[in-house]
Amino acid sequence: MSAPFDRPLVAEFGSGDAAVSPQAGDEERVVESALRPHSLEDFIGQPKVSRQLALVLEGARRRGRPPDHVLLSGPPGLGKTSLALIIGSELGTAVKITSGPAIERSGDLAAMLSNLGAGDVLFIDEIHRIARPAEELLYMAMEDFRVDVVVGKGPGATAIPLEINPFTLVGATTRAGLLTGPLRDRFGFVGQMEFYEPAELQQVLDRSAALLGVELTEEGSAEIAGRSRGTPRIANRLLRRVRDYAEVKADGRVTLAVAQAALALYDVDDLGLDRLDRSVLEALVVRFGGGPVGVATLAVAVGEEPHTVEEVCEPFLVRAGLLARTPRGRVATEAAWLHLGHPLPRGGAVLGAGPGTSELPGSSSETLFDA
Ligand code: ADP
Repeated sequence: MSAPFDRPLVAEFGSGDAAVSPQAGDEERVVESALRPHSLEDFIGQPKVSRQLALVLEGARRRGRPPDHVLLSGPPGLGKTSLALIIGSELGTAVKITSGPAIERSGDLAAMLSNLGAGDVLFIDEIHRIARPAEELLYMAMEDFRVDVVVGKGPGATAIPLEINPFTLVGATTRAGLLTGPLRDRFGFVGQMEFYEPAELQQVLDRSAALLGVELTEEGSAEIAGRSRGTPRIANRLLRRVRDYAEVKADGRVTLAVAQAALALYDVDDLGLDRLDRSVLEALVVRFGGGPVGVATLAVAVGEEPHTVEEVCEPFLVRAGLLARTPRGRVATEAAWLHLGHPLPRGGAVLGAGPGTSELPGSSSETLFDA
């Protein structure tokens, strides 16, 4: 597929930086943007979403019209922002970036929409956090390329319809279940991003190492990939930390021994769990006897926001078979007790979930209530 521009034209609206990552620091943002893939061909993994998206884009190109609105969902760091930029790059159009929390008033959104050029891509990260009045304005914009601008206040207020250029909305969300039905229904394509396999992460690492000029051996790459929680952003972050170690403590080459020593120093264990993941599991196992416990209580115990625990830690802990989300709350599995090196409680029933276990039957991450 040809990419008319090397890089999409990107403009940010409001605090669009949040689109990169709410936790990202300055260094992270700069390096992330340098390491982003710029075409679907460059985009590693996610074969299903990539193939489907390629078709959507090709169809639109042939019809000479902007493609359907696209919703990308999945945990942070899996490539949603990168795909939004690639859509712009593949179509040769500008990408304007903002995020749900940055759109506080519908007037802000109306101004953004009326500034879009024909065929532009509007990327809204964390779209599930958009304010309700702005969301309602978005419905009409997505469907009819029109917004109602309200002039005046009270009984004399009038809505003046304003035509806007046809555009493609790309929404990203870590919590698809929190999207309202009417908003979700207006997306013509929904891509569910999955965690990456270690072999795919190795490809991401090899590509990043080449771009950063880091010498990375195959064993070194496999070691980092195995501890990256299935997430390219984490793989790239670990690569940078290991590179520091290699440059300061060794000859600059990232070998297996260097990767192992550096990751041990940075508290990344052999499953890739970091300090926060482990404190969530520790709290669950030690303080709450393995659960069930509500996510809000668990978050207080580790001094974090519930949504960080839910959106950043839990998806991988669930995928690794260490934690289960049940209708009564979070439960540590047998594998969690063993991983933390705690003896299984005597006489207590412990969930014997192995790796790959996901939600328990009858439960859903979005419908859980807090104990
Ligand atoms: P999200 O928007 O889902 O949080 P991003 O698109 O910001 O994730 O991805 C974070 C970083 O991970 C990017 O800067 C990029 O370097 C890397 N990355 C993500 N997906 C891929 C991929 N499929 N191939 C190569 N690198 C990727």
